[in-house]
Amino acid sequence: MKRVPEYFGSMVFDDRVMKARLSAEVYDSLRKTIDQGTKLDLSVANAVAAAMKDWAVEKGATHFTHWFQPMTGITAEKHDSFITPAPDGRVILEFSGKELIKGEPDASSFPSGGLRATFEARGYTAWDPTSYAFVKGHTLYIPTAFCSYGGEALDKKTPLLRSMEALNRQAMRILHLFGNEDVHCVRTCVGPEQEYFLVDRALYNRRPDLIYTGRTLFGARPPKGQELDDHYFGTIKPRVAAFMEELNEELWKLGILAKTEHNEVAPAQHELAPIYTTTNLATDHNQLTMEIMQTVAAKHGMVCLLHEKPFAGVNGSGKHNNWSMATDTGVNLLSPGDTPHENAQFLLFLCAVIQAVDDYQDLLRTAVATAGNDHRLGANEAPPAVVSIFLGDEITAVLDAIETDAPYHGAERTRMKLGVPALPRFLRDTTDRNRTSPFAFTGNKFEFRMLGSSNSIACANIMLNSAVADTLRKFADRLEGTEDFDAAIHALIQETVKAHKRIIFNGNGYDDAWLEEAKKRGLANLRTTPDCVPCLLEKKNVEMLTGLGVYTKAELESRYEITMENYCKCVSIEALTMVDMARRDILPAVETYAAKVAGTAAAKKALAPDLAASYETDLVRRLSGLTDCIAQRTENLEHLMAQLQTTEDVTASACRIRDEILPAMSALRAAADEAETITASDCWPYPTYGDLLFSVR
Ligand code: ADP
Ligand code: MG
Repeated sequence: MKRVPEYFGSMVFDDRVMKARLSAEVYDSLRKTIDQGTKLDLSVANAVAAAMKDWAVEKGATHFTHWFQPMTGITAEKHDSFITPAPDGRVILEFSGKELIKGEPDASSFPSGGLRATFEARGYTAWDPTSYAFVKGHTLYIPTAFCSYGGEALDKKTPLLRSMEALNRQAMRILHLFGNEDVHCVRTCVGPEQEYFLVDRALYNRRPDLIYTGRTLFGARPPKGQELDDHYFGTIKPRVAAFMEELNEELWKLGILAKTEHNEVAPAQHELAPIYTTTNLATDHNQLTMEIMQTVAAKHGMVCLLHEKPFAGVNGSGKHNNWSMATDTGVNLLSPGDTPHENAQFLLFLCAVIQAVDDYQDLLRTAVATAGNDHRLGANEAPPAVVSIFLGDEITAVLDAIETDAPYHGAERTRMKLGVPALPRFLRDTTDRNRTSPFAFTGNKFEFRMLGSSNSIACANIMLNSAVADTLRKFADRLEGTEDFDAAIHALIQETVKAHKRIIFNGNGYDDAWLEEAKKRGLANLRTTPDCVPCLLEKKNVEMLTGLGVYTKAELESRYEITMENYCKCVSIEALTMVDMARRDILPAVETYAAKVAGTAAAKKALAPDLAASYETDLVRRLSGLTDCIAQRTENLEHLMAQLQTTEDVTASACRIRDEILPAMSALRAAADEAETITASDCWPYPTYGDLLFSVR
């Protein structure tokens, strides 16, 4: 067996390969493009393309593709082969610099949220040299950004790169004020912890709801769920272990730093965490991870469910976005330092995050808004829809002391004055944990926990980077040119804490009392997707995002459209699936069973007229009551869906779905689930929750 270091990254055209295969001149030029964003000239691109092709062909590639992330949230690819006809009838394999740099896929079938109407239907893909090309299957994958001809972003990568650049610019201004002359750039880093479920494929194939929507729309609670907490960190079952082993191997070949794996809280639920890396790369890697999880699961006779809420009554799946800012010299800006000077810098960056999260709570909530994730947020398993920050007792005490100019009762009892050698050293204690906070400081990074398991992490990081960049911009504007820098910083931190401490909450986020308290503090509680998406077009948000150059107004309008549209489509498919399942499977099944029981009752009575057969009679009555109820609720849902068709406006549709369709779906489900509990198991048409959750061994 090959050892991991031998094959790690073997399918990636990474720095090692570039160095080995490119001339020194070409390598230096490419490196400059990667590190500093300088323009690549065509001769260099040609040399890179030729080397890439030779390398890829050795790895078995016959095709190449520009790989991009349209606003569907998944990745897209169109494969072209390397073949070019030679005059003698043979073919040769070619790949030019032009083909590497730019592609022109037809954009018309991807969601554009109205951008297409204003620009040409065609879009183009542009090579993103900051994310390495790789070979998967028989194809060379080239990570690209996807834009319209007018230059409007049709994807998630373009705004992500813009937001990273915005943060870089503003963070550099602050770092210069602190005299960090050796730093060239600041990058944000992310380690996304990915949760997922594994279910048996044969059982999955018998559930139309899983097939069409990724979640169960019906299903009575099994006698055993997650109440014993016996799954979390439990022994990994052999089939799952085999899956994880192959998954790791596939990810490692692609240079993805898969690190930690364990069972999660719910039965059949698991988690994978990679080692953190630059946000752009982490985003590409997370997309690949989700895709490869599904292909590897298929090979093991299983299906990987990435839906946020595949099962009612057991925990759903999220994604924890561990986020930090670091300099190219290797300094983590969210890590408390050893000297007062470093600590002042740390506190300033920390305060920038605090203010950013408070000012743009609504955008952070919107960044994770999907129909699937609405089931999780606020359901006592995931953080609530209210955004708040957990800092832990120690940092909170430090900020309190600064705010009030009071003595700090920390490890060293000293007055909190910044810039003077009195600032205490922070204990780097990362054991302070709070799993219920949407946005938790964990020692040297923030963990944003509201993301759904199927979300692209791009959206959350675009908003996070932008919000922090905006605050850093305000800070830099204020600090640049001040005479007494230390005093100015002290005042700035003090004011920021005063103005934004409402966002800090160290208690239990699952507690109802918190929602009351949050309301008093004036924090937003945007429960559903239609509730929060309108904030994308609010003046303060548009000004911030356009001001930093992350989105244009038109791009924001398109995101608004697409997010709402997606919500509507997603729930509509669920509703139609329910109608179909109820009519064609559930009602007939319950009827069949009721007829059987009625037959037994009649047979008993025929045998001996004095037999009451009261069990059978009562059961038939109950079953019959439920079939009436299911039939009526199915009809009602169908009727509401028909009405929805007449609603033209996407916002109005989304609101109708939230207010009418979702409650009608719940009502139908309740009746069907009750019927399941009293119908003979051999009559029930679908594998049960128990089957799905406990069958993979
Ligand atoms: P925990 O298990 O306590 O949540 P870990 O240290 O295991 O924390 O890290 C969880 C995730 O956070 C991993 O993906 C890890 O790589 C990532 N991470 C660790 N340090 C940083 C950092 N400075 N910036 C971004 N992500 C980080
Ligand atoms: Mg964690």
